[in-house]
Amino acid sequence: MDTFADRLSEARARIDAAARRVGRDPAEIAVVAVSKTRPPEDLRTAVAAGQTKLGENYVQELLRKQDVLADLAGRVEWHYIGHLQTNKARQLVGRTALLHAVDSPRLLDELDVRSRAAGVVTALLLQVNVAREATKSGCSEEELPALVAHARSLPGVRLRGLMTMPPFFDDPDAARPHFARLRILRDALVARDPALAEPLRELSMGMSGDFEVAVEEGATLVRIGALLFGARE
Ligand SMILES: *Cc1c(COP(=O)(O)O)cnc(C)c1O
Repeated sequence: MDTFADRLSEARARIDAAARRVGRDPAEIAVVAVSKTRPPEDLRTAVAAGQTKLGENYVQELLRKQDVLADLAGRVEWHYIGHLQTNKARQLVGRTALLHAVDSPRLLDELDVRSRAAGVVTALLLQVNVAREATKSGCSEEELPALVAHARSLPGVRLRGLMTMPPFFDDPDAARPHFARLRILRDALVARDPALAEPLRELSMGMSGDFEVAVEEGATLVRIGALLFGARE
């Protein structure tokens, strides 16, 4: 397991096995390779190995890498997985395939205005702070229905699903209730309004240490960094 391609196929095999354990179709689950802090050459290697979705979580770093790797533009889908400050939203409009961590009406409004001005529609996920951690971003469960409705009312944004980041646990199984909770919240919203099935299709959850558990609980996008690129400094 020493090349990116080897590590990617190993991760893929583990995802597929986790999906089959719970009777899911492995094709429903995609890998976002989290390339934050990695030099552009590492991203180039990932793309050469067939990886298309790359995840970054700092605005300036994402923009810099997009410039340096401009020749890969047609082969990369850039995902912004970090918390986005409202005053930086403008810089990402038209630059990402999916924003994973939108969590406030103010940020939605800013993305809507800037997207319409630029003539684009910005696809996004709403981040839910399922574990109610004071230090984490994400809306509360109680705020979620109104935030979903708000996102749906804005022509400049397109809601695609939900995202969560549970507390860190040594035992990946300890994260399971948090992943399950995100799925339950989504299913409850769709049960009340079947028109939400498509806008809430994606569940972004699971990282290097716990992605198999997340897949077992319904993840459609797993965000994997260290396992693919090696440990960060
Ligand atoms: C860094 C990061 C990841 C990837 O974490 P790894 O443990 O390296 O797999 C996933 N999601 C978010 C939001 C991150 O910031």
